[in-house]
Order: sequence, then C-alpha cells, then structure tokens
Amino acid sequence: MRYQHIPAVILDWAGTTVDFGSLAPVSALQRIFEANGVPITTAEAREHMGVLKRDQIRSICAGRRVRDEWSGHHGQPPSEPDVERLFTEFLPRQAEILAEFSSPIPGVRETVEAWKAAGLRIGSTTGYTRALLDAVIPVAARDGYSPDASVTPDEVGGGRPKPFMCYRNAILLGAYPLWRCVKIGDTPSDIAEGVNAGMWTIGITRTGNEVGLSRNEWEALPPDEQAARERVAARRLAEAGARFTAASLADCSDILDDIERRLAAGEEP
Ligand SMILES: [Mg+2]
Repeated sequence: MRYQHIPAVILDWAGTTVDFGSLAPVSALQRIFEANGVPITTAEAREHMGVLKRDQIRSICAGRRVRDEWSGHHGQPPSEPDVERLFTEFLPRQAEILAEFSSPIPGVRETVEAWKAAGLRIGSTTGYTRALLDAVIPVAARDGYSPDASVTPDEVGGGRPKPFMCYRNAILLGAYPLWRCVKIGDTPSDIAEGVNAGMWTIGITRTGNEVGLSRNEWEALPPDEQAARERVAARRLAEAGARFTAASLADCSDILDDIERRLAAGEEP
C-alpha cells in the first residue's frame, strides 16, 4: 500500500525496534540498586519502564518494598538527592551495556524499509537521554535500522507520558496533523504518550517490556505459555489506551493499512 493519509509513524526504541525483551535498562537498573544495598526484582525494574530514567528511578524508590528495604539499609527512606545520585550512577552503567543490546529486533529492518518505500516518515522517541540514545543509534544503523528522526526527553522538557517528543518528531519530519500519525511502543507509558499526542497507537507485546523475555527465553516457552503471556501484555497495553496491539513491529503493517483505510473513511483516533 502507498500511504496517502498517514504521514509518519513514531517508534519506540528498546523492546520495539531494538533490544528484544527490553533487557538493557532492566540490567542497568538492577546493578545500581544492588550496588546501593537494595537489590530490586526484574518486575520492579520493569514496572515503570518507558519514562525518563530519572523518573523511573524515582518511581521504583517510591514502591513500598524498596522504600522499606532502603530505610532498613540506609536508616531513612530514599530522598530526592538519592534519586539524583542513582540516576548519575545509572548513566555510565547503562552506556556500558547498551551497545551489547542495540541490535534491531528480527523483522524491523525489512519492515521499516518497506514503510519508507511506501511513503511513511519514521520518527522515534525513548526513555533514554540523548547521550544514551547516541550509543544505540550507530549500532542499530550498522545493522540496518535508521529512523528519519529521533528525540529524547532531555531535549523537550520531559518524557512520557508527556507528548512533547512526538511534537518535536512532527516538526523534524514535517509531518502533520498528529491525529493522522501512529505511535508504536511496548510500554503503557509509550501508549500514554501517543494518546496524549492525539495519535493512533499500537502496543507491542512479544518483543517488549510487558512480556520481558530475551529471544531465547521466549522461544523456549511452550506455545500455550507464549499465548498466555501475550494476552496479559496486550491487556495491559489496551488498558493504557492502545487502539491496537501486535506481537512485534513486523506484525504492524496490516494494522497500518487498516488505519490508512479508516482515515480515508474519515475516522479519527
Ligand atoms: Mg520500549
């Protein structure tokens, strides 16, 4: 299909286009909390994924178990200076392990090439800062994935669920109106961002944070377990407002065709 009505799609990075299972941020978050005497679970590291990492660290610290354990270990609950220090420690840790987790997810390269050839512009948003994303971009590009634009929370005065990264992408891409554009991402905060920007939204299940498994772990699961995990992820994303869900980015082309037809028929998100 040649897209006449959708000018652009805006894609998330980890768990959507690169880093199957969104493993890099989880690993880095767990390492800094452990280094501060309060190890966190994978579920705690994943719960608030997708927002700017400083905000995510603050939310983890506000969780009851972490707060109690932190108080037990440090003599008082985590404070804003603690959040700031953890974020400062997080940045180099994340940068170290990022390159290792920045390969495109299977199908992304071919899918994005086809979308570009069909007339779509490709924007991107993330919970990473610019310094972190700049470690990801060349690795993904080397393996064949390059969006036309990328925007980070520190460039626009805040990350998800604020819609400002989408606004900036629209400007960089010359794409409007946003209600004709599509946001695709793997976390509830991705969906909130798209909804707040007035866009169509697609939530990604299998390769993303809500399923939260590496490709090998995923492939080792029996089919009924895979289906159950995808259903849970789809429900969480739908509850966040996702208009559609798909297993991976490569499964979104039919949905884009559907949105194109809906726009042609006068429908809005
Ligand atoms: Mg993500």
